[in-house]
Amino acid sequence: MSSTQATAPSVSDAAIPDRFYEILKGVWGFSSLRPSQEAAIASILEGRDTLVIMPTGGGKSLCYQAPAIYRGGMTIVVSPLIALMKDQVDSLKQVGVNAVRVDSTLTLPEKREIAQELRSGNVRLLFVSPERIASPDFVRLLEGNEVHTIAIDEAHCVSQWGHDFRPEYRQLSSLRNVFPNAAMHAFTATATVKVRADIMDQLQLKQPRMLISSFDRPNLTYRVLPQVELENQILEVCERHRGSGGIVYCLRRNDVEVITAFLQSKGISAVGYHAGMPHEERKRAQEAFLTESIDVAVATVAFGMGIDRSNVRFVLHASIPKSIEHYQQETGRAGRDGLPAECVLFHSVGDVMTLKKITESSLREANASEEIVAASRLQIEEMSRYCQTPVCRHRALVQYFGQSYDLASCGACDVCLGDTDEVPDSKIIAQKILSCVFRVQERFGVNHVVDVLLGARTQAVVQRGHDQVSTYGILKEVPKAQLKDWVYQLAGQGALTLDGTEFPVLKLNPNSRAILFGDAQPRLIRTATKAKERKQAAASEASIHADSGLFEKLRLLRKKLAQEQNVPPFVIFGDTTLIEMSATRPSSLEAMLMISGVGNTKLNAYGQDFLDEITNYCAQNSLEMDAQWKSSVAQSGSSQPAMRVGRTGATGTKNITIPMLREGKSFDEIASKAGITPGTVASHLLEMMETEAISSIDPWVSEATQRRILAAAEKVGRERLKPIFEHLNQEVPYEHLRLVLNFEKQNS
Ligand code: ADP
Ligand code: ZN
Repeated sequence: MSSTQATAPSVSDAAIPDRFYEILKGVWGFSSLRPSQEAAIASILEGRDTLVIMPTGGGKSLCYQAPAIYRGGMTIVVSPLIALMKDQVDSLKQVGVNAVRVDSTLTLPEKREIAQELRSGNVRLLFVSPERIASPDFVRLLEGNEVHTIAIDEAHCVSQWGHDFRPEYRQLSSLRNVFPNAAMHAFTATATVKVRADIMDQLQLKQPRMLISSFDRPNLTYRVLPQVELENQILEVCERHRGSGGIVYCLRRNDVEVITAFLQSKGISAVGYHAGMPHEERKRAQEAFLTESIDVAVATVAFGMGIDRSNVRFVLHASIPKSIEHYQQETGRAGRDGLPAECVLFHSVGDVMTLKKITESSLREANASEEIVAASRLQIEEMSRYCQTPVCRHRALVQYFGQSYDLASCGACDVCLGDTDEVPDSKIIAQKILSCVFRVQERFGVNHVVDVLLGARTQAVVQRGHDQVSTYGILKEVPKAQLKDWVYQLAGQGALTLDGTEFPVLKLNPNSRAILFGDAQPRLIRTATKAKERKQAAASEASIHADSGLFEKLRLLRKKLAQEQNVPPFVIFGDTTLIEMSATRPSSLEAMLMISGVGNTKLNAYGQDFLDEITNYCAQNSLEMDAQWKSSVAQSGSSQPAMRVGRTGATGTKNITIPMLREGKSFDEIASKAGITPGTVASHLLEMMETEAISSIDPWVSEATQRRILAAAEKVGRERLKPIFEHLNQEVPYEHLRLVLNFEKQNS
């Protein structure tokens, strides 16, 4: 197998041209590429066949989308699912890129329209399902277009060793004959050595460069917990993330139905999904989840590849997955937007046996070979070993995929977090909590009970006289998040009941009484004791509270706009963009454009709507606008969204950025060190230039771009930036315009 050897991971140092970055900022609103994207894109621009292996959320699509715009001509993207193609085409249209899809669902008029579009030569990306490419129609459709790149998405579908084998993928190498000059690039998130080799062979990649990113997903917190009271344990996590998206994976259809009904009865917005449901119903369920009209999808593994909602905040496994690859793939659907997300697997030995039985019988029914049956058994055993071995989960996963892991402790898994650290005085604490529930007459939810225990003087507490009850303030030394967690733990163990349809109320039950008055011993776990030791580099725990004021308002606006256009909300803006908006609260379109994820087309389409919403909110709540990223972070942990911050915390990031700017470090480097966005770094530079002279802006804007900007300014004047921006075909970000003009002024 010659192809497996030709895989030197080094990419030539051919730098990615400035114009590429200008497109990246202008079209997508991104100020930088991630390191693994940079390597992939350098290789793709070089036109050499490439196999890109990047975990879910790594940003694979940008690797073929951005070069397609940069190079012009035509890029064909083969994708296994119509839903995925549709979302990608919708997303591209949102940023102003001409993309179309060809699949079996097109109506005749749609087909005609697409054919015409294609003839115009203005289509940059054509998405196609694998079964279409073999047809002569398809080749004819493309006449007159220069196809220089073929991208194969979800390339593991080509391999029967992968978990989503698609026989149609086997025909893809025929594309080589049709477009002999096109380079072919394959993309996948899962690949064992066997699958990798298979991809390269099956697609007949020519001397491919193989680029493998780290498989680690630092923003995911992994937990494996023993099943105690499964339904309550699942409910506990759903409650903690109320209002956010999550997936609960179940082994059997029946489990899906039971758990969905249970969650619904507890007021969780949940929908079931399994292969036994009628097609239409399944489609509706999936759409409800993607469009955020439902929070939680309870599903069998049939709920899979089409799920590209980026703000999934938790993935739960109610039962052990079939293999570590499956686990990686399924948990991978959490936190694609890079924000913290939580993955919990509820493990039971009984499930392992059931899974083995079910898998084996379905394989035998399908006449699978003994080899495949044995392999599947082995995979389940490996998965079970993963669950039962107390090794850092991040480490175990990364090592499984053949990579090394350098951190001694990830700070984001049950093992490193010390989830099993039992609180020594569990019983006394539990008794205090339970008697507080009793004192407030079993009529309040977790937040209120916690407030009373902490001795908080909230309006609700005072109004109801709960500052007079005997349990008021008896746990005031405990951090709020910790106390809340313990209450949920008690509920998870069945020592408390969460009841009520509209909003969950804490009630006592016979187990509570056995703790209060008998010798039942509850087990409380301290998840936060080691928090202080956590490596800042690792993810903070998933704790995005979607109910925070402005963020919630922006989310509603996004949903409304999405509904109007019949696209999923994440296609309009991702959560990271909304969080940055609610943290910095831009006061102008220019400031808005500094935000990651806001490119020119989206600025034109939605900028004003979001600006109005932000301005209103700030006026109503007397909030300053154009705040630095830090100011909202200072409030995180309360009702604000918990934003990801670097090690600088709430105090002046300028102390860090300004010295590095003086050294001429790039925005991206500074941004990642200071834990802020490149846009904020740019604003620091602009501010710095007001008081101190700098000798050059070459480190941040290329000389060629500076010349282009000045030439445009000569033509259309310097008073306003917008005409310059328009004159440069919206290709150069506003922050560059301001830098160049300010620098010119400084030196005139
Ligand atoms: P994958 O296909 O590898 O799962 P996606 O292409 O869906 O990943 O990208 C994941 C998320 O990361 C998306 O929300 C995307 O907008 C965002 N993203 C990708 N590249 C960048 C970048 N260079 N800067 C900022 N965000 C990015
Ligand atoms: Zn760990």
